[in-house]
Amino acid sequence: MEFQIQNIRAREVLDSRGNPTIEAEVKTKKGISRAMVPSGASTGIHEALELRDKNHRYLGRGVQKAVNNVNKIIAKKLIGLDCRKQRDIDELMIELDGTKNKSNLGANAILAASMAVTKASALEQNIPLYRWIAELSGNKEIALPVPSMNVINGGRHAGNKLDIQEYMILPIGARNFTEAVRFCAETYQNLKNIIKEKYGKNAINVGDEGGFAPPLDQAEEPLNLILKAIEESGYQNEIKLGIDAAASEFYKDNNYVFEGEILSGKELGDVYSNLLKTYPIASCEDVFAQDDWNSWIEFTKKHNKKVQIVGDDLLVTNVKRIKKAVELEACNALLLKINQIGTISESIDAAKFSIKSGWNVMVSHRSGETEDSFIADLTVGLGTGQIKSGAPCRSERNSKYNQLIRIEEELGDRAVYKVNL
Ligand code: PEP
Ligand code: MG
Repeated sequence: MEFQIQNIRAREVLDSRGNPTIEAEVKTKKGISRAMVPSGASTGIHEALELRDKNHRYLGRGVQKAVNNVNKIIAKKLIGLDCRKQRDIDELMIELDGTKNKSNLGANAILAASMAVTKASALEQNIPLYRWIAELSGNKEIALPVPSMNVINGGRHAGNKLDIQEYMILPIGARNFTEAVRFCAETYQNLKNIIKEKYGKNAINVGDEGGFAPPLDQAEEPLNLILKAIEESGYQNEIKLGIDAAASEFYKDNNYVFEGEILSGKELGDVYSNLLKTYPIASCEDVFAQDDWNSWIEFTKKHNKKVQIVGDDLLVTNVKRIKKAVELEACNALLLKINQIGTISESIDAAKFSIKSGWNVMVSHRSGETEDSFIADLTVGLGTGQIKSGAPCRSERNSKYNQLIRIEEELGDRAVYKVNL
């Protein structure tokens, strides 16, 4: 029967860091739809639970329990259902799990099934995945996003001493997505040469997200190197900068241990304010810790009009926390990570609520990724205008950018490169 889920099964495969992750397959009349789940390193404490086996295999990181939960529990309920009923299916899995943070079945198990169902529906209906996501979300304006490419890695993603985790380039002056990729790739290669010349060959090894990880320890240094690379590439007017501090990672005893000093939230805010004054920064993410609401509110009061302030660990793609942040005016943009919440329906809800509240939405990869390019279609379907998928280097990062290049080609004259920064 058309649209019917004939079978669903999962297996354990490897992610970009060499850790196990879960892949699910949904079988329908037209074929097999496969989805893989990513995994974070700087994970927020309010994220839905990633179920790991914690036994002798893979240093405790195996996902056989999650695989079994798909094969033995989720499959029983989903087989026979119409794959187009995404919300019903997601709600059924949430109910089946029965916990607030999906700790029973595992958010990784549930998300693998949820993503594979979305793909199966697109396949069965003979439409591209981004079209189906647009339909699911009620979005009428599909769009290609501005990529935020993380070209220098620090924090938990690299072996250097940089406290700020991500230094990104945002090609807001490109005419289309394909050109945006070229601007970034050229800048990335020039940055590589600059770093090599200044710090030697070892310094051009890359971190988890494909950005360089030179032996630096102060926030200004990577920004200066990147500005030089942008200038050498001739894109001073086309490329802006972005940072993700991932500040929960250096929050200790109500203070921030930043560049060797103990700073209050207010003092750390002053550090960022100086960076914003000196550098063309268009977006800053997780500038404070996940529950340090007061620092977020103070900072947003000061910079709301001038810069995009993105909540990642703060919001964990959870409508409840997004609502609170909207009410408190704690930031002005959502980082959307599907595995923080664990279903496609809830991810769509998070995006829609944010957009309705006047916020921007940046769809995001995780530092542990796979070759699955689902989030490329997700950002187009939701029309968010922003995606971050790491550096233009390493195929688990480029699989998203390459898929967006394909989508732009397919849309032809109808393709819109949406710049909302
Ligand atoms: C991030 O913090 O935005 C990020 C992508 O890193 P991770 O996946 O490690 O949370
Ligand atoms: Mg982040």
